[in-house]
Amino acid sequence: MRVLVLGSGAREHALVHAIASSPSVDRLYVAPGNPGMVDVAELLELSLADLEDLASAAAELSIDLTVVGPEVPLAEGIGDVFARRGLRLFGPVAAAAELEASKIFAKEFCLRHAIPTAAAEIVQNADDAARAARRFGFPVVLKADGLAAGKGVLIVKSESELEAAIDDLFVARRFGAAADRVLVEECLVGTEVSFMVISDGTRIETFATSHDYKRVGDADSGPNTGGMGSHSPAFALSAELREQILNTVIRPTVAGMAAEGREYRGILYAGLMLTADGPKVLEFNCRLGDPETQSVLRRLDGDLAKAFRDAADGRLESGAMRWKDEVGACVVLAAENYPGSPRVDDEITGITDAEAMPGVVVFHAGTRRDGERLLTAGGRVLSVTATGDNLADAVDLAYRAARHIRFDGVHSRSDIGADTLDKIGKSGG
Ligand code: AMP
Repeated sequence: MRVLVLGSGAREHALVHAIASSPSVDRLYVAPGNPGMVDVAELLELSLADLEDLASAAAELSIDLTVVGPEVPLAEGIGDVFARRGLRLFGPVAAAAELEASKIFAKEFCLRHAIPTAAAEIVQNADDAARAARRFGFPVVLKADGLAAGKGVLIVKSESELEAAIDDLFVARRFGAAADRVLVEECLVGTEVSFMVISDGTRIETFATSHDYKRVGDADSGPNTGGMGSHSPAFALSAELREQILNTVIRPTVAGMAAEGREYRGILYAGLMLTADGPKVLEFNCRLGDPETQSVLRRLDGDLAKAFRDAADGRLESGAMRWKDEVGACVVLAAENYPGSPRVDDEITGITDAEAMPGVVVFHAGTRRDGERLLTAGGRVLSVTATGDNLADAVDLAYRAARHIRFDGVHSRSDIGADTLDKIGKSGG
């Protein structure tokens, strides 16, 4: 197969890394890609904003399979554009990607199909938002309906935070049209887990479980980020809980979308809270999670490109993905001032030394080449991943590798996996 991967982050680097070792693949392209991928894929200077242009490139290069990393092209209908031109693409069409692109669609979909989720009210102005929030009581969650680069969820703990949130959403309009409608939602308590599957429209195959760390600081302090690290498996998910999630959330979602004429072919990611009343949906995504993918795919045993192609064709095979009995860990190295406006153009050194350690792979995200030098070019710069026999070993290796890597202003969390290790014990997993 000739495969084209779209995207440029560490998630896409992990995809490229896994697809490059898929036996069914003989040529691999990526657009626009990043400097970490040049050894295994050919980089194409194409913009993800021009869907017709991407389809033309796929046709010219006789691409057999296009894999979409990020959500925005999917929400904008890249699946529809490629389908119209007879090109195979792995990812949902726009009507199916609504599950991520509209939090209100997802909420109403859950209600229609009795899929457990947080109670919520839909509001369109500041007064109704305030009234609904006070009805739920603090803490309460306000969510912009549309895509907001992962930043449209505001957890509000007090009257003054509520005022600020309502101002952001309805007055300053920080999220633009994405917040024309807003969900005011019950704040769920429990352990958060992500659950990712491949769907071919009717059948599903599960990814290994994972746990991610969203806050910038240790012990979940400081502001939310795109993700500061992850480990796989999640450990919080027993086989019984996995079955429960499949039966109460994943299978009803795939069946419900098909029944509504929005057949879902692609990655389905459910963000879930494990509450005292069972797992409840926080959100759906129509693509793999970042940085969960980085630790999950390190455990892959199987032909990922073939699984994606078969799913795109509606004939996913059972057992298409197998997972090594190892633990994957990922530590994100971020730039000075991330998650605010990150400083860029700091020189990065030490990646080769880090990757010389057996079990370590470093995925790039915010990097760029300047002649011989590698410079920072974004907030989340690198994902340092490691595998090990247990969580303690995997995390320890990732941190030892990360210490080789230097750039001015680098920061990371120092406690990836620590909460899980507290629960399962040092030799657990
Ligand atoms: P989302 O983008 O919807 O996953 O929201 C981002 C983060 O906000 C989630 O990963 C949760 O940590 C948190 N969150 C979202 N909805 C809720 C909720 N109803 N209750 C508690 N936390 C939530």
